[in-house]
Amino acid sequence: MGIKFKTPIVAEPNKFSWFDVELPNPGPYEVIFRNKACLICGSDLHSYKGLHPFAPIPTCTGHEVAGEVVEIGSKVTTLTVGDRVYVAGTGAGTMPCGQCFYCVRGNPRRCVNPHKSTSFKIGGKVVSRFPSGFGEYSINHEARAYKIPDDVSFYEAATTTDVAYVTGVVIRSEGGIGNSAVVIGAGPIGLRTLEVAKAAGVSPIFVSEPVDYRLKKAKELGADAVINPMEEDPVKRVMELTDGAGVDIVYDVAGNLRATQQGLDMVNTRIGGAGRIYLMGLYEAPNNNL
Ligand SMILES: [Zn+2]
Ligand SMILES: [Zn+2]
Repeated sequence: MGIKFKTPIVAEPNKFSWFDVELPNPGPYEVIFRNKACLICGSDLHSYKGLHPFAPIPTCTGHEVAGEVVEIGSKVTTLTVGDRVYVAGTGAGTMPCGQCFYCVRGNPRRCVNPHKSTSFKIGGKVVSRFPSGFGEYSINHEARAYKIPDDVSFYEAATTTDVAYVTGVVIRSEGGIGNSAVVIGAGPIGLRTLEVAKAAGVSPIFVSEPVDYRLKKAKELGADAVINPMEEDPVKRVMELTDGAGVDIVYDVAGNLRATQQGLDMVNTRIGGAGRIYLMGLYEAPNNNL
């Protein structure tokens, strides 16, 4: 075994406890990182409460990570010790194989043969999402690390996770010139969705969000109209703004069933309208009533 360190783990809801842990020596294509910055994702809050649908307690948290390379496997060619990097997929609990169809085309996220990261048990249960960004070190396949320029801070680099996520969704939604959209929820992901969709040419873009300072930010970032659903009916307003048609794309970032229902009611459902809705938030409980 290799490096030893401490990591915070949610072993019971609403509480972090520190555990002594150990990483193995890196495999041929693996790299060990010293985590330097890790952001708090909305999904980390679900984990902390014990309500994350894919990361049962006990679980590590923190996957939006930038760090420094401290050790490399024998066949690693793209990184050297001391490199400053953004690391994708930290805390995913798996590492890509580096050799399948997707891995060799630079898309390790879709690896068909991922292998489990090392983990350990607490109270007979395997710790999910180990190792993560809130511990001192993490390990991953070299294909998941991207070097960052000297003038980009670790903190700035850690925001790449969100930008990559929303960019992927905007591309899949075919958001571009000639499409209108609503972003429901203007937290960090919602605001980035607004920015990326706008850069892609989507226009107009409306934002629905109950918190005023977030609405103000959305306006600053170029939302064509902002709607507070506590003060007015967002569906009615969007229908007015689109002459009754609804929007082409709804980016639902709220993770809240009421908002999702509103999204379904705002999207263009006319024949040939090709309206589409993207569920980008995480729900704390299953629901079959939509
Ligand atoms: Zn996240
Ligand atoms: Zn693979």
